[in-house]
Amino acid sequence: MEESAARRKRINRLKKMILGGVMMAVLIPVTVSIILGVRVHQLSGRIRQQDVTIQELEDENENLAGTFSTESVEESEREALQEEMDEETPAAGEEEENRKKIYLTFDDGPSSNTDEILDILRAYDVKATFFVVGKTDETSRKAYRRIVEEGHTLGMHSYSHSYADIYDSEEDFQADMKKLQEYLYELTGVWPRYYRFPGGSSNTVSSIDMQKLADWLTDQGITYFDWNVASGDAVSKELPADTLTANCLAGIANQQNCVVLMHDAAGKHTTVEALPEIISQIRMQEDAVFLPITDDTVSVQHNIKAQTEGK
Ligand SMILES: [Zn+2]
Repeated sequence: MEESAARRKRINRLKKMILGGVMMAVLIPVTVSIILGVRVHQLSGRIRQQDVTIQELEDENENLAGTFSTESVEESEREALQEEMDEETPAAGEEEENRKKIYLTFDDGPSSNTDEILDILRAYDVKATFFVVGKTDETSRKAYRRIVEEGHTLGMHSYSHSYADIYDSEEDFQADMKKLQEYLYELTGVWPRYYRFPGGSSNTVSSIDMQKLADWLTDQGITYFDWNVASGDAVSKELPADTLTANCLAGIANQQNCVVLMHDAAGKHTTVEALPEIISQIRMQEDAVFLPITDDTVSVQHNIKAQTEGK
C-alpha cells in the first residue's frame, strides 16, 4: 500500500511536471508572441507616423521649391530686366542717331601709304572714305579695288589734282571729273557719286566761280564734301603723329557730325602712324561710330558764297 501510494505520488508529480512543461511550452511562445505582436504594432504605428511626417516634409519642400526656386527667381528677374530695357533702350537706329558720327576721309591717294591705312582700318573694323586721284600703275589699280572690296567709299578728288588745269575753265573741270568717274567705274564697277574739290570748295585758287562747279556737280547727281575737322596733315611740313591725334580729338569735340580731313599721300607717313591712336582715343573718349560716307551722310560744305564774295 505504502509502495503504491508512493508510486501514485511520483506519478502525480510527473503528471504535474509534464503538465507544467506543456503549459510552459504553450504559454511562453504565446506570451512572447503577444509581446512581439504589441511591439510590432507599436513600431508599425511609429513607421506610419514617420511616413506621414516624411510626406509632409516632402510636400512642404515642394511648396518651398515652388515659391523660392532659384530658377523662378532668375526667370522673373530676367523678365523684369527685359521690361526695363525695352522701356529704356531706344531702337538700334535711334541709338545710332544719337551717337557722334565720325567720317574719316583720305585725300590724294592711292599711294604707298594706302595699303597700310587699309590694313589699320581693317584691324580696327572701321569704314572710311577715300577721295582719290587718277593713277594708272598696277599698285594704284589694286588699291582702288581694295577700297571698294573692303567696304569703304570711293570718292573723287579730280583726276589730275592740278589746280591750274581743273580751275581754269568749267569745261576743263568737267572733263577732268568725268575722266576720273569713268576710269573708276571701269576698274571697280562702282559709279562714284561723291566729290571733294582739290583745296576744298572754299579754295581761293580757282579762277572760276566755285558755286557754278558745285551746281554742275549737283546736276550730275554728285554730292561734294568739304570737312569740319582737320587732322593738320595738309600742311607741307610733316607734323608729328601726336599733333595729328590731338588735332583730331580737339576737332571732333562739340560736333556730332564730324568729317575728318586726312591724307593718304606718299609724303604723309605720320598720318599712318597716328591713325591707330586716333581711332583708339576717339573710341575711348566718345560714344562715337565710324562710318563711310553714304547718301545718308549730312554733307559738310564750306560757305562758297562768303568765300567768293570775300575774294
Ligand atoms: Zn588734295
